[in-house]
Amino acid sequence: MNDPALAGLPHHILLDETVAARAPWDHLVRAGETLRILDLEGNQAVDFLMYAAEDDTERYSAQDTITAQGNIFLRRSSVLMSNEGRPMAEISASTVAYHDTLGGACSCESNTLRYGHHTKSQHACVENFLISNARHGRTKRDIVSNINWFMNVPVEPDGTLGIVDGISAAGLYVDLRMLMDVCAVISNCPQINNPCNGFNPTPIRVVIASGAARA
Ligand SMILES: [Zn+2]
Repeated sequence: MNDPALAGLPHHILLDETVAARAPWDHLVRAGETLRILDLEGNQAVDFLMYAAEDDTERYSAQDTITAQGNIFLRRSSVLMSNEGRPMAEISASTVAYHDTLGGACSCESNTLRYGHHTKSQHACVENFLISNARHGRTKRDIVSNINWFMNVPVEPDGTLGIVDGISAAGLYVDLRMLMDVCAVISNCPQINNPCNGFNPTPIRVVIASGAARA
């Protein structure tokens, strides 16, 4: 079987799953393994957090990552840093030009503020993070600033942020090569009030692979 979606990955596939539209997902990914996140249908924001498996008070830090690389966007070769200043993962491949570090996660509360009270009942990324984190004994106070894979949040010269049409497309992916054992947490973003998911949340595919690279 020659699946083009697995091109360039290490040859030993440990896990290969579809995450339904709007759903949470979490999994242990060990040092040396690669986590591939595939945007199956295009323009699907994937909200992402990462905790050190050994001690989850160490976790992904947007601030440390941005400062270390001197840039607000994540691209191939970006290193994701922890709040202890240690490298957690490297972006070993990305077929999307850049990913967002600033836009944060949608919540029922922010939806209500931005889009009106009728959105209060809509499922949101913070709920997904709470569901996944609860499986590991973590609570709301463990949710920190997250990565938005495939999301386009341009910054204007005056510092203004936008959430605009995506730059991702069907079949594009990002690979994270882990530099420590981590608990990876995903919210497949349910947002339907702005263009971050093309107003239509869709499934994604997650693959964990290890070993030497494929020929
Ligand atoms: Zn969201």
